[in-house]
Amino acid sequence: MDLEIKIIRNEHPNPKPQDESALGFGKYFTDHMFIVEYTEGIGWHDARIQPYGPLAIDPASPVLHYSQEIFEGLKAYRRADGGLQMFRPIENANRMNQSAERMCMPPLDPEFQVKAMKMLVELEEGWVPHMEGTSLYLRPTMIADGAELGVHPAKKYLYYIICAASGSYYKNGMAPVKIHIEDHYVRAVKGGTGAAKTGGNYSASLKAAAEAAKKGFDQVLWLDGRENKYVEEVGAMNMIFVMDGKLVTAPTGGSILPGITRKSVLQLAQDKGFTVEERPISVEELFEAHESGRLTEAFGTGTAAVISPVGLLEYHGKEMHLSDGKIGPIAQDIYDTLTGIQRGEREDPYGWVMKIS
Ligand SMILES: *Cc1c(COP(=O)(O)O)cnc(C)c1O
Repeated sequence: MDLEIKIIRNEHPNPKPQDESALGFGKYFTDHMFIVEYTEGIGWHDARIQPYGPLAIDPASPVLHYSQEIFEGLKAYRRADGGLQMFRPIENANRMNQSAERMCMPPLDPEFQVKAMKMLVELEEGWVPHMEGTSLYLRPTMIADGAELGVHPAKKYLYYIICAASGSYYKNGMAPVKIHIEDHYVRAVKGGTGAAKTGGNYSASLKAAAEAAKKGFDQVLWLDGRENKYVEEVGAMNMIFVMDGKLVTAPTGGSILPGITRKSVLQLAQDKGFTVEERPISVEELFEAHESGRLTEAFGTGTAAVISPVGLLEYHGKEMHLSDGKIGPIAQDIYDTLTGIQRGEREDPYGWVMKIS
């Protein structure tokens, strides 16, 4: 797709945050955003990078009523030599199209999506923070546009990318998270939208997360929506368990978001000589494995934290304590390798890294 991307510069750039240790997540948006429009019968048109700012949306726009919306999340990193790189952006672009397919939205050429990400990051070079663990977070988004209340796929869409300077997830060290295994609310069922990165999945999860937070938990681990028996994933992370020294994770069979970090971790683990199993894991199996000392580590995988060690799993008031409240050795080893590749400090034999400058 050779759609030209126009650049309309922001004549009033914002001052960049000075304290890189206080960036947090998704708060400091850059001066520009990428946007491209879709109209039925015409296709994608009017691609441009323009000053960051509010969108004009009709109050009857389908996205506001029926949640026809999808998104992605990935990071651009600054290397020690000052240059910039992204991690597996084509995977995000392909997944965006898979989500689009499920939500009856039009695909956008993955190479073109990556070109837009690259141009935007180049333009916002000065916004990519330097401190260890920081990054520029990219949020590609597609929404249904137009002005019609009928329930059917929209005829107009907007695809846009915004960026936020983001802080280190672990600025106070790698504190293991406390997870509540949810047996009342469900996130996704087979045949539903669990495998798509679509807004509705997240608004539907807020109540369970809020109730768990009140009880002192950091995250909710969802069970399968049919039998309430098998573990699936947490809010925005896939889950990996270490049992008998093997890495075991739930298969992504339609109700689980196929994480790019998950895929990368499983590949690295295999290449480090670990056995990897993708199969259903019941809560009962986890408790049995824990009691007999065979469950030694559990961790979440996702772009935000890369790897998030689990210190506690709770189900029906019963608790499993893991790794003495520290990160386990296998999680640490994989974390070091993966973040090393992402930040350009380790060799990348996989071709996962895309250099920008
Ligand atoms: C984004 C997301 C993940 C993690 O995917 P990555 O590609 O590794 O960032 C896992 N689960 C859900 C529900 C997500 O939205």
